[in-house]
Amino acid sequence: VVQLDRVNKWYGKYHALRDIDLAVAKGETIVICGPSGSGKSTLIRCLNNLEQHDEGGIKICDITISENVKDIEKIRRHTGMVFQHFNLFPHMTVLDNCTFGLRHVLGMPVSQANEVARDLLNKVKIGDQEQKYPGQLSGGQQQRVAIARALTMSPDIMLFDEPTSALDPEMISEVLEIMRSLSKDGMTMICVTHEMGFAKEFADRIVFMEAGSVIEISPPEEFFVKPKTERAKVFLDQIL
Ligand code: ATP
Ligand code: MG
Repeated sequence: VVQLDRVNKWYGKYHALRDIDLAVAKGETIVICGPSGSGKSTLIRCLNNLEQHDEGGIKICDITISENVKDIEKIRRHTGMVFQHFNLFPHMTVLDNCTFGLRHVLGMPVSQANEVARDLLNKVKIGDQEQKYPGQLSGGQQQRVAIARALTMSPDIMLFDEPTSALDPEMISEVLEIMRSLSKDGMTMICVTHEMGFAKEFADRIVFMEAGSVIEISPPEEFFVKPKTERAKVFLDQIL
């Protein structure tokens, strides 16, 4: 459902993505890791056109990213994105955060939108907080709301960019639990994360990046035990 073909991107003169080839099948959980500045966020943001790539092809659910605004809108509907810093609307309640897309993008009536949102808020175990504002919630709770909000649009693919790295340790596990259950339920997920426990247990494949290139793609049992490249080995020694 995701296909990248020789994708290149520059920020000015800086070559941020180099000849990225990657195909992700429906239902796969992919973990992207690599040192800071290696291009992980850039790559994931190119998948829903938050950043524009310069060369090569990106296809999401058989739609090619191009300048066509209609296609970009379609791709955004197929993808849900969760960021490090939650990015909730601070002036809206939890419930309104979660119904915003349903009401304004899909034009769903409020009562029906509320029903969809409540169902998902219950799923991420935060149904009792729907009238609070994001600022009144813990980081872990906010991130679960952000996941619920992304899920309201019934995405085919969920993109995560370090969803737990702004959280206190005790809140990390509650967000990981949601990600685990999504993965188990067959959601296609592309996750930038340093949570190697999650990667070991739930990733179908690990994508290791360095300096804008994909250096290695391996299943976790290979990547963590016997990485193909010296650079991945050095990286793992640093973080594990
Ligand atoms: P981290 O682990 O720190 O989040 P990352 O792997 O996500 O790092 P990116 O954010 O994708 O890395 O950045 C890759 C490179 O591109 C970095 O050198 C960064 O400075 C540069 N870069 C990222 N965004 C921009 C931008 N908007 N303008 C110019 N350079 C950028
Ligand atoms: Mg990043």
